[in-house]
Amino acid sequence: MIDSIKVNVIGTVDSPYKEKFAIPRQPGIVTAAQGQIRLTGTANNAELVRGLAQFSHIWLIFVFHGTQAQGWKPLVRPPRLGGNKKLGVLATRSTFRPNPIGMSVVKLDEIELQAEHQGSQVILHISEFDLLDGTPIVDIKPYVPYADIIADAQGGYAHQQPTNDLSIIFTAAAVTVIDEYSSSYPKLRQLIEQVLSQDPRPAYKQKHADNKIYGMSLYEFNIQWQFDGSHTIRVISVEINKPSPV
Ligand code: SAH
Repeated sequence: MIDSIKVNVIGTVDSPYKEKFAIPRQPGIVTAAQGQIRLTGTANNAELVRGLAQFSHIWLIFVFHGTQAQGWKPLVRPPRLGGNKKLGVLATRSTFRPNPIGMSVVKLDEIELQAEHQGSQVILHISEFDLLDGTPIVDIKPYVPYADIIADAQGGYAHQQPTNDLSIIFTAAAVTVIDEYSSSYPKLRQLIEQVLSQDPRPAYKQKHADNKIYGMSLYEFNIQWQFDGSHTIRVISVEINKPSPV
C-alpha cells in the first residue's frame, strides 16, 4: 500500500491577492483580476503546454501554502453556513484539509512563451481565480466540458452562488488615484467593486453592517473601505505602496 507520495511544484502564481482577506471564496466570481502562472524548474518548458491554448479554462491543483502551517481539522465551519455550523472537512472546500491541496477552474487567457534571451519562461495568463499570491501549482489540466460539466448535479448547502445587494461607492479621492493608475491597472475599479460585492468580512458578520474601517490589498494598492448604511460600501481611500527610498 502506498501511504504517501512526493509531489513536485511545477509553477508559481502571481496574483493581485496579497493576503487571504478579500480573496473570492471560489473561482469564476471575480472576473476583473488578472494573474499569471510561471512554470518552474524542469516544468518550465514550452513542450508541456503544447496544445493547451485551445482550451478556454484549466484546472489548477495547488498547495494552500498560506494556511498549510496551521494543520487541519476533521470538522470545520463553512462560511456559507454563517460560520456557526460544523461539517466534516471533506464535505467542504475549507483550506484546512488532511492534505493542503486546493483545486480551481480558472480562465486561461493566453500562453506566453518568453524567448531564450528573456530567460525561456513559460507564462500562463489567467483570470477568474481565487488564489493567493505565491500559490505553488502542482498540476494543470485542461477543463473538458463534456466530462466536467454535470448539469443535474446537486450542490447541497452550496448549490447557488451567494447573492447580496450591496452597492459600492467611491470617494473622489479614491477615484483620483484609480484614474491616475488606469493605464497600468485598467480594471482596478471594477476589481474593487467585484471583490467588495462579495462582502469579504468574516462569515459571522455577513448581512449586518458595522462601522469598522477595513483595509485590503490588491496588486500594489492598499484600499480602505467602510459600510455606509446597510447596503452600501464606501471606498474611502486607495493608496499605492511606494517602494521605500533607497
Ligand atoms: N477553489 C479552491 C479554494 C476554495 S477556498 C478549492 O475549492 O479547493 C478559497 C479560499 O482559499 C480563498 O478565499 C482564499 O482565502 C484561500 N486561498 C487561496 N489560495 C490560498 C493559498 N495559497 N493558501 C491558503 N489559502 C488560500
